[in-house]
Amino acid sequence: MKHVNVIGAGLAGSEAAWQIAQAGIEVHLYEMRPVKMTDAHHTEDFAELVCSNSLRGNSLANAVGVLKEEMRRLNSVVITSADETAVPAGGALAVDRHAFSGMVTKKVKEHPLVTVFSEEVTTIPEGVTIVATGPLTSEPLAEAIKEFNGSNGFYFYDAAAPIIDKSTIDMDKVYLKSRYDKGEAAYLNCPMNKEEFEAFRDALLAAEVAPLKEFEQEKFFEGCMPIEVMAARGPKTMLFGPMKPVGLEDPKTGKRPYAVIQLRQDNAVASLYNIVGFQTHLKWGEQKRVFQMIPGLENAEIVRYGVMHRNSFMNSPELLEQTYQSKKRSDLFFAGQMTGVEGYVESAASGLLAGRNAVRLIKGEELITLPRETAMGSLAYYITHASGKNFQPMNVNFGLFPEMPERIKDKKTRYEAIANRALEALEKEIEHGL
Ligand code: FAD
Repeated sequence: MKHVNVIGAGLAGSEAAWQIAQAGIEVHLYEMRPVKMTDAHHTEDFAELVCSNSLRGNSLANAVGVLKEEMRRLNSVVITSADETAVPAGGALAVDRHAFSGMVTKKVKEHPLVTVFSEEVTTIPEGVTIVATGPLTSEPLAEAIKEFNGSNGFYFYDAAAPIIDKSTIDMDKVYLKSRYDKGEAAYLNCPMNKEEFEAFRDALLAAEVAPLKEFEQEKFFEGCMPIEVMAARGPKTMLFGPMKPVGLEDPKTGKRPYAVIQLRQDNAVASLYNIVGFQTHLKWGEQKRVFQMIPGLENAEIVRYGVMHRNSFMNSPELLEQTYQSKKRSDLFFAGQMTGVEGYVESAASGLLAGRNAVRLIKGEELITLPRETAMGSLAYYITHASGKNFQPMNVNFGLFPEMPERIKDKKTRYEAIANRALEALEKEIEHGL
């Protein structure tokens, strides 16, 4: 019987290896630590949590809670180990990080169908393979992936503006228009008067910035200036940059506002919008506080905060199938953060699906594309259908799911309905042999 190569025993690789082995297929799992460490990992354990010990919300009232529940129902080693090593954290699922990764390591390593190779992989192997080497993929392999995907197919750092759930924008305060009315009206514009602009700039200048990791210093400002740095350049710098009002007269008044912040559609179904030119390194709590000062965004939900950090990820909309298969080589899968899913749980979820699909490929069965109504399906859909021009990694969030057929105004009720629909859709898939 053929085996599957899994490269990287992080969140995605460990989950993929577990799913494959549990399905009765042999796994060759390659992990370079401790022979070669990354700049963020400190141990040789599998599924090490490099930063926070929280796997975020655990209830069905948030999308990552739905994702976890789906994974539980599919026997995820990451989520069941997290459940078993949980520490008190209110509504979140936080873990004792050493107990958690120790448990994942033990379960995966001791599985009779898993053989572990402690070595750095520098080329993409032949045969059925899942590459899950994460945001800090070692350089030789990153080069090999870049060469395989083509020059625009692999990025090395991430400079992203916050992304907002459209259903939480106050549409009475913003207006739809493109600058100088060129092309179709495509942007949601948030107008500011002089006082609002000045208060906003003051808040930006006073807001706390996230500390940089040592290995991120040199790459950081390449070509992409954070909005807080631009604000500090001078009182009017932003007015000549992303807050430029020219050509954006407010249709309600016919006048040009003092400043305008534009929101650009971020996904094909227009449920998500990003703040144009607002890449930022502010702490997440500060982003919420300051960006909610923008007219129309007072109650906006930021589904993905702005980040600027080292992050190797591929241009998945151009390169991957929803099954996590490479479009160029059907027996090659990618999983984890490098596919443009963002976060521990999302990475593990993509490993789960890639692992199950690798098994199906070996068995000659049809591969799984989960319905978009599920959290796992909506995430796989997003990374393969977002715009390839400015693709940025994404956390799971309710804006990725298809809207409910009926409009549900109350957010809590709406999210509850989406969560229930997701689990029903998953159960149907399980009944049909997922
Ligand atoms: P990883 O978990 O990093 O696993 C990849 C594995 O591949 C590693 O074990 C690595 O040693 C191995 N590897 C790399 N190259 C090779 C090679 N050539 N050969 C063999 N093995 C190799 N997400 C959150 O949800 N919360 C956070 O707090 C958080 N903080 C983060 C902080 C930092 C500094 C970074 C970089 C990311 C953070 N993330 C966070 C994002 C992301 O969720 C994690 O990076 C997550 O670990 C990604 O899972 P993964 O399986 O894709 O990669």
